[in-house]
Amino acid sequence: MKNTLKERVRKKLLQFGRKNKICSILALPALVVSMFFFHAMTYFAGNGKRFSMLTMILCLFVVYSSFSFPMFIAADGREVEWDLADADSSVELAPESDLSLEDMELLADEDVLEGLEDWNEEDPHGMAGVDTYDSSELLASLEGRGSGTERTTEEILEAYESGELVFDANDWRLVLINKQHSIPDDYSFTLGTIVGNLKCDERILDDLSDMLQAAKDEGLTLKVRSPYRPPERQVYLFNDKVNKYMNRGMSYMEAYQLSSRTVTMPGNSEHEIGLALDITCDTFADLEQEFGDTDAGKWMAENSCRFGFIVRYPKGKEYVTGIDYEPWHFRYVGVEAATVITAQGITLEELWEDLENN
Ligand SMILES: [Zn+2]
Repeated sequence: MKNTLKERVRKKLLQFGRKNKICSILALPALVVSMFFFHAMTYFAGNGKRFSMLTMILCLFVVYSSFSFPMFIAADGREVEWDLADADSSVELAPESDLSLEDMELLADEDVLEGLEDWNEEDPHGMAGVDTYDSSELLASLEGRGSGTERTTEEILEAYESGELVFDANDWRLVLINKQHSIPDDYSFTLGTIVGNLKCDERILDDLSDMLQAAKDEGLTLKVRSPYRPPERQVYLFNDKVNKYMNRGMSYMEAYQLSSRTVTMPGNSEHEIGLALDITCDTFADLEQEFGDTDAGKWMAENSCRFGFIVRYPKGKEYVTGIDYEPWHFRYVGVEAATVITAQGITLEELWEDLENN
């Protein structure tokens, strides 16, 4: 009788098994494993669509959670309680996150990144390569500009209190850009040149020129740096910071959380719409909190509102803005809003709350 292929294979295997005892011990587990894989493979092959959908959903979940989650996590990993009372208002305020003492030290200590190859101690804010000009150069370039303010501070405040002055949510000068509000997709503006490669929204040049002149009349030489930042530069600055913290052994989420306190996230920076200017002075050129204690810093905090600018991230309002105190970062909001915001000691977020409630 002619043996079938199956019987012949079986016979050969048995012979082989008798000669090599060790193989017969391994044969059963090997058979079980190979059968398991065979069935698993055919199952996957038969349900290809289902599994690719599952994988996609998993990927989407990972991507979304890694971008939105960090804001609700304190830097030390504890969850931050989200005040539901705030949810009534359409303006969401940044939750007050508690930084651990260790993180506070990291933030305050610029030497934290010492030793990294690409870290430049002289340039903690990544401003190298950005030209700075002092006010005489700026004023020469802006000659012929200037508007002259129409109403005095008192007149503006009176009009606001009496209800005659009402702010308009569609006013381009009031556009709210922060961690919760990214730049609207349809936002457009024209770039104007301050001097050289320093650019900003063209519509603020007159008031900027007036402000620089007024400061000069007081004997103060202001320096303007990095007004408009193209989005690519913001992406670079942010990623750079995240990478540096990760090199210090932080997880991506911790690095992301900490970075968002010092560098604004791409798409959420007022520098990208040309309405923010970093201003220092000839005697103190660094973007450091000490600028607020200089004569120029004090004059700017008090008087920039007369020309439509506000200290966007004031001291003591970190829980509203979600950004550390930055006495050098000025945002243009127009003379009237700037006057009200400065006189009332509020932030742009808080002006928007009023605006929504009226
Ligand atoms: Zn700035």
